[in-house]
Amino acid sequence: MSESERKNPEPIDYNRLFEGIRDFKTNEFIPRQQFFEELGQQQSPHTLFIGCSDSRVIPNLVTKTIPGELFVVRNIANLVPLYDKNSETFVATSAVIEYAVKQLNVTNIVICGHSNCGGCAALYYDKELKQLPHTKKWLELASPVKKIVEEKIAKNKISLDERNSFTEKINVVEQMNHLMKYPYIRKRVKEGTLTIMGWYYHIEEGEIYNYDKKKRRFIRVE
Ligand SMILES: [Zn+2]
Repeated sequence: MSESERKNPEPIDYNRLFEGIRDFKTNEFIPRQQFFEELGQQQSPHTLFIGCSDSRVIPNLVTKTIPGELFVVRNIANLVPLYDKNSETFVATSAVIEYAVKQLNVTNIVICGHSNCGGCAALYYDKELKQLPHTKKWLELASPVKKIVEEKIAKNKISLDERNSFTEKINVVEQMNHLMKYPYIRKRVKEGTLTIMGWYYHIEEGEIYNYDKKKRRFIRVE
């Protein structure tokens, strides 16, 4: 939805994908066959990673983690649905959260936003969203974020130029708050058996900024 995302992709040569599969088998799988055989039996991921569907956000790449470590859900703008005890809305993401925490007992949740996020930018493009009804519906989840940002702009606390990056960051904090409204998450956080982290991935810089709850700002991971 941002300019950089609008250019149409070159058609993919399918052989490149098949070549990638053969390369994986030869250079990744065979040298570590025993690891994959054990991994095939079970998973015990330590972290639920909630990230954006954006093609540039690759959880295992930026954290240098291996298969079996991250349980991942990615959606447009890395949103967490508000807790709904009747399980009627936005279940694709809330089911992943429930399964990761209650069934797999992950001990950490990461919400990861990123720079130049098309989903966050789309909050301000009502006209374009008319032809994307499902995206529009999904982004309703970010309406509290939009409200916070618009109030800051109205009070001149941030400029229009800063709007998108501010939205991307405040969105991470808001989704962390949404997680704390899930009773089984709040309970585990209070018991000390679950931590929640908020990250901001700056793609061009190759940096990740971690949200410091006490200082209420993002601090670059050194
Ligand atoms: Zn995004």
